[in-house]
Amino acid sequence: MYGFFECSDCNLEWESSKVYFKDRLRNVYYGQECKECGTMCQPYRVEETTCSRCGQVARTCGCDKTRHTDPRKPHRRDLCEKCKSGSPCQ
Ligand SMILES: [Zn+2]
Ligand SMILES: [Zn+2]
Ligand SMILES: [Zn+2]
Repeated sequence: MYGFFECSDCNLEWESSKVYFKDRLRNVYYGQECKECGTMCQPYRVEETTCSRCGQVARTCGCDKTRHTDPRKPHRRDLCEKCKSGSPCQ
């Protein structure tokens, strides 16, 4: 899932393609820490990640996903609750 974050303390905004549900009921997401002040934030909006090749929902489109990672936006594992929980993002 693709998430939009805004820090409640310093109003920093960021986006991440590494947003996952934390529980089976699908109403809590793994948070990410604000890189400015370290506050753990939940995404305020989450969308399906769209495929950069076909434009469909990436989860179900069937394209080869091995090259979907955008090297210009490295995932900050040190700020990601899921990565730090012992089951890192793919
Ligand atoms: Zn902040
Ligand atoms: Zn696709
Ligand atoms: Zn992560």
